[in-house]
Amino acid sequence: MTRPGGESQRLRAELLAAASEAAPLEACGLILRRDGRTWLQSLPNQSPTPKVAFAVDPLAVLAAENDGCDVVGVWHSHPGGSAQPSAADHDGAAAWPGLAFWIAGLHPPSATRWIATEGGLRADPAGPVW
Ligand SMILES: [Zn+2]
Repeated sequence: MTRPGGESQRLRAELLAAASEAAPLEACGLILRRDGRTWLQSLPNQSPTPKVAFAVDPLAVLAAENDGCDVVGVWHSHPGGSAQPSAADHDGAAAWPGLAFWIAGLHPPSATRWIATEGGLRADPAGPVW
């Protein structure tokens, strides 16, 4: 059985790898859980300005739920910046209250975890920085 710390480090590595692969565009997707396992699902960035923003297809959330997955949250990358949330990230979080919101920054390489609320992103009590 994988220790929780080990799974967290694996997810952090997957997040940074997906961010590097998509650069110079923002990568994005869902954080899914089923049968005690958590993983990142990569999705096409549907934003019309994918170098500076991201958009996840809401139908992907329904598709994941129909597959029996819990949608734990949303992740995306900042290919040109840090892992701190942008003003747009705080605004966008209002659409996903209660969900985790993970950000990978490539300058410098780092990853942060947040909880979406109707008032914006709050640091995850479990530890905002990996
Ligand atoms: Zn962002």
